[in-house]
Amino acid sequence: MLHYHTIPVTAFQQNCSLVWCDQTLEAAVIDPGGDLDHILAQAQHLGVTLKAIWLTHAHIDHAGGTGELARRLDLPIVGPQEGDQFWIDGLPQQSTMFGFPPALPFTPTRWLQDGDTVTIGQETVHVRHCPGHTPGHVVFHAPQIQRCFVGDVLFAGSIGRTDFPQGNHMQLIDSITQRLWPMGDETVFIPGHGPESTFGRERRSNPYVGGT
Ligand SMILES: [Zn+2]
Repeated sequence: MLHYHTIPVTAFQQNCSLVWCDQTLEAAVIDPGGDLDHILAQAQHLGVTLKAIWLTHAHIDHAGGTGELARRLDLPIVGPQEGDQFWIDGLPQQSTMFGFPPALPFTPTRWLQDGDTVTIGQETVHVRHCPGHTPGHVVFHAPQIQRCFVGDVLFAGSIGRTDFPQGNHMQLIDSITQRLWPMGDETVFIPGHGPESTFGRERRSNPYVGGT
Protein backbone atom coordinates (compact mmCIF):
# COMPACT_ATOMS: atom_id res chain seq x y z
CA MET A 1 0.00 0.00 0.00
CA LEU A 2 1.19 3.51 -0.82
CA HIS A 3 0.91 6.29 1.75
CA TYR A 4 1.75 9.96 1.60
CA HIS A 5 2.18 12.98 3.81
CA THR A 6 2.31 16.52 2.52
CA ILE A 7 4.61 19.13 4.02
CA PRO A 8 4.29 22.78 2.96
CA VAL A 9 7.81 24.18 2.50
CA THR A 10 9.45 27.53 1.73
CA ALA A 11 7.90 31.00 1.88
CA PHE A 12 5.75 29.86 -1.09
CA GLN A 13 4.12 27.11 1.04
CA GLN A 14 4.88 24.57 -1.66
CA ASN A 15 3.36 21.13 -1.02
CA CYS A 16 6.34 18.82 -0.75
CA SER A 17 5.10 15.23 -0.33
CA LEU A 18 6.65 12.15 1.20
CA VAL A 19 5.27 8.99 -0.45
CA TRP A 20 6.14 5.58 0.89
CA CYS A 21 5.49 1.86 0.62
CA ASP A 22 4.22 0.41 3.89
CA GLN A 23 5.82 -2.99 3.18
CA THR A 24 9.34 -1.59 3.05
CA LEU A 25 8.96 1.88 4.62
CA GLU A 26 10.99 3.20 1.69
CA ALA A 27 10.02 6.73 0.70
CA ALA A 28 10.38 9.15 -2.18
CA VAL A 29 10.21 12.88 -1.62
CA ILE A 30 8.34 14.82 -4.28
CA ASP A 31 9.53 18.41 -4.83
CA PRO A 32 11.89 19.21 -1.94
CA GLY A 33 11.88 22.96 -2.57
CA GLY A 34 13.57 23.81 0.72
CA ASP A 35 13.27 23.49 4.52
CA LEU A 36 15.23 20.24 4.29
CA ASP A 37 15.64 19.81 8.04
CA HIS A 38 11.87 19.96 8.42
CA ILE A 39 11.37 17.36 5.65
CA LEU A 40 13.97 15.05 7.18
CA ALA A 41 12.42 15.40 10.65
CA GLN A 42 9.04 14.43 9.20
CA ALA A 43 10.55 11.40 7.48
CA GLN A 44 12.15 10.34 10.74
CA HIS A 45 8.89 10.89 12.62
CA LEU A 46 7.07 8.69 10.09
CA GLY A 47 9.76 6.02 10.35
CA VAL A 48 10.48 5.99 6.63
CA THR A 49 13.81 5.90 4.78
CA LEU A 50 14.32 8.30 1.89
CA LYS A 51 15.40 6.51 -1.27
CA ALA A 52 14.73 8.98 -4.09
CA ILE A 53 13.83 12.54 -5.06
CA TRP A 54 11.04 12.88 -7.64
CA LEU A 55 10.59 16.27 -9.33
CA THR A 56 7.45 17.58 -11.06
CA HIS A 57 9.28 20.60 -12.46
CA ALA A 58 12.30 22.77 -11.77
CA HIS A 59 10.90 25.98 -10.31
CA ILE A 60 12.83 27.07 -7.23
CA ASP A 61 10.03 26.43 -4.71
CA HIS A 62 9.75 22.83 -5.98
CA ALA A 63 13.37 21.96 -6.77
CA GLY A 64 15.48 24.40 -4.71
CA GLY A 65 16.55 21.86 -2.06
CA THR A 66 17.19 19.04 -4.53
CA GLY A 67 20.94 19.40 -5.05
CA GLU A 68 21.69 19.67 -1.35
CA LEU A 69 19.37 16.83 -0.33
CA ALA A 70 20.73 14.53 -3.04
CA ARG A 71 24.27 15.25 -1.90
CA ARG A 72 23.52 14.86 1.81
CA LEU A 73 21.76 11.49 1.48
CA ASP A 74 23.23 10.30 -1.82
CA LEU A 75 19.78 10.08 -3.42
CA PRO A 76 18.95 9.65 -7.10
CA ILE A 77 17.09 12.59 -8.70
CA VAL A 78 14.22 11.36 -10.87
CA GLY A 79 12.57 13.83 -13.24
CA PRO A 80 11.34 16.12 -14.47
CA GLN A 81 11.14 15.77 -18.27
CA GLU A 82 14.18 17.25 -20.00
CA GLY A 83 12.30 20.30 -21.32
CA ASP A 84 13.00 21.78 -17.85
CA GLN A 85 16.78 21.70 -18.29
CA PHE A 86 16.86 25.50 -18.69
CA TRP A 87 14.96 25.95 -15.43
CA ILE A 88 17.47 23.68 -13.65
CA ASP A 89 20.31 25.72 -15.15
CA GLY A 90 18.55 28.86 -13.88
CA LEU A 91 18.11 27.70 -10.26
CA PRO A 92 21.00 29.83 -8.93
CA GLN A 93 19.41 32.97 -10.44
CA GLN A 94 15.96 31.89 -9.23
CA SER A 95 17.27 31.48 -5.68
CA THR A 96 18.75 34.99 -5.72
CA MET A 97 15.65 36.53 -7.26
CA PHE A 98 13.23 34.98 -4.76
CA GLY A 99 15.41 35.19 -1.64
CA PHE A 100 16.04 31.46 -1.35
CA PRO A 101 19.22 29.93 0.07
CA PRO A 102 21.68 29.32 -2.79
CA ALA A 103 20.51 26.28 -4.77
CA LEU A 104 23.19 23.68 -5.48
CA PRO A 105 23.35 22.71 -9.14
CA PHE A 106 22.34 19.18 -10.05
CA THR A 107 21.77 16.89 -12.99
CA PRO A 108 18.84 14.48 -12.85
CA THR A 109 19.91 10.87 -12.50
CA ARG A 110 16.99 10.00 -14.77
CA TRP A 111 14.85 12.21 -16.99
CA LEU A 112 11.20 11.14 -17.18
CA GLN A 113 9.04 10.66 -20.27
CA ASP A 114 5.30 10.39 -20.71
CA GLY A 115 4.19 6.85 -19.86
CA ASP A 116 7.19 6.03 -17.67
CA THR A 117 6.81 4.39 -14.29
CA VAL A 118 8.76 5.00 -11.11
CA THR A 119 8.91 2.66 -8.15
CA ILE A 120 9.31 3.07 -4.43
CA GLY A 121 9.55 -0.09 -2.35
CA GLN A 122 6.97 -2.45 -3.85
CA GLU A 123 4.80 0.34 -5.26
CA THR A 124 4.67 1.61 -8.84
CA VAL A 125 3.62 5.14 -9.77
CA HIS A 126 2.81 6.31 -13.30
CA VAL A 127 4.30 9.38 -14.97
CA ARG A 128 2.47 11.69 -17.35
CA HIS A 129 4.15 14.59 -19.13
CA CYS A 130 1.95 17.66 -18.59
CA PRO A 131 3.65 20.68 -20.21
CA GLY A 132 2.27 24.20 -20.16
CA HIS A 133 3.32 25.66 -16.80
CA THR A 134 6.86 24.56 -17.69
CA PRO A 135 7.81 22.53 -20.79
CA GLY A 136 9.19 19.60 -18.79
CA HIS A 137 6.47 19.35 -16.13
CA VAL A 138 5.42 15.83 -15.12
CA VAL A 139 2.80 14.48 -12.71
CA PHE A 140 2.91 11.34 -10.59
CA HIS A 141 -0.24 9.20 -10.69
CA ALA A 142 -0.87 6.49 -8.09
CA PRO A 143 -4.06 4.75 -9.33
CA GLN A 144 -3.88 2.19 -6.49
CA ILE A 145 -4.85 4.94 -4.04
CA GLN A 146 -6.59 7.24 -6.57
CA ARG A 147 -4.11 10.04 -6.02
CA CYS A 148 -2.15 12.27 -8.37
CA PHE A 149 0.66 14.66 -7.48
CA VAL A 150 0.22 17.41 -10.04
CA GLY A 151 2.72 20.12 -9.08
CA ASP A 152 1.68 23.45 -10.59
CA VAL A 153 -0.50 22.08 -13.41
CA LEU A 154 -3.83 22.37 -11.58
CA PHE A 155 -5.02 23.82 -8.27
CA ALA A 156 -8.31 23.71 -6.39
CA GLY A 157 -10.20 26.44 -8.28
CA SER A 158 -7.30 27.54 -10.46
CA ILE A 159 -4.60 26.42 -12.90
CA GLY A 160 -0.85 26.96 -13.20
CA ARG A 161 0.64 30.22 -14.43
CA THR A 162 1.78 30.25 -18.04
CA ASP A 163 3.43 33.68 -18.19
CA PHE A 164 6.94 32.31 -17.59
CA PRO A 165 9.45 31.65 -20.39
CA GLN A 166 8.20 28.70 -22.48
CA GLY A 167 4.88 28.68 -20.65
CA ASN A 168 1.97 27.80 -22.93
CA HIS A 169 -1.65 28.25 -21.95
CA MET A 170 -3.21 26.01 -24.61
CA GLN A 171 -0.69 23.27 -23.85
CA LEU A 172 -1.58 23.52 -20.15
CA ILE A 173 -5.32 23.21 -20.88
CA ASP A 174 -4.59 20.18 -23.09
CA SER A 175 -2.46 18.61 -20.35
CA ILE A 176 -5.31 19.01 -17.87
CA THR A 177 -8.13 17.83 -20.11
CA GLN A 178 -6.28 15.10 -22.08
CA ARG A 179 -3.99 13.70 -19.40
CA LEU A 180 -5.48 14.47 -15.98
CA TRP A 181 -9.22 14.11 -16.58
CA PRO A 182 -8.88 10.52 -17.91
CA MET A 183 -7.50 9.52 -14.50
CA GLY A 184 -11.08 9.73 -13.28
CA ASP A 185 -13.41 12.10 -11.46
CA GLU A 186 -12.82 10.36 -8.13
CA THR A 187 -9.06 10.87 -8.25
CA VAL A 188 -7.81 13.20 -5.52
CA PHE A 189 -4.99 15.47 -6.61
CA ILE A 190 -2.29 17.02 -4.48
CA PRO A 191 -1.42 20.39 -6.03
CA GLY A 192 1.83 22.26 -5.58
CA HIS A 193 0.08 24.87 -3.47
CA GLY A 194 -3.12 24.95 -1.43
CA PRO A 195 -5.69 22.28 -0.59
CA GLU A 196 -6.40 18.96 -2.31
CA SER A 197 -9.42 18.54 -4.57
CA THR A 198 -10.73 15.93 -7.01
CA PHE A 199 -10.61 16.02 -10.81
CA GLY A 200 -14.41 15.67 -10.80
CA ARG A 201 -14.89 18.75 -8.66
CA GLU A 202 -12.58 20.80 -10.88
CA ARG A 203 -14.32 19.55 -14.03
CA ARG A 204 -17.55 20.87 -12.60
CA SER A 205 -16.48 24.12 -10.97
CA ASN A 206 -12.97 25.29 -11.90
CA PRO A 207 -13.43 28.62 -13.75
CA TYR A 208 -10.46 27.89 -16.08
CA VAL A 209 -11.26 24.31 -17.08
CA GLY A 210 -14.79 23.70 -15.78
CA GLY A 211 -17.13 22.10 -18.30
CA THR A 212 -14.26 20.48 -20.20
ZN1 LIG B 1 5.96 26.20 -10.75
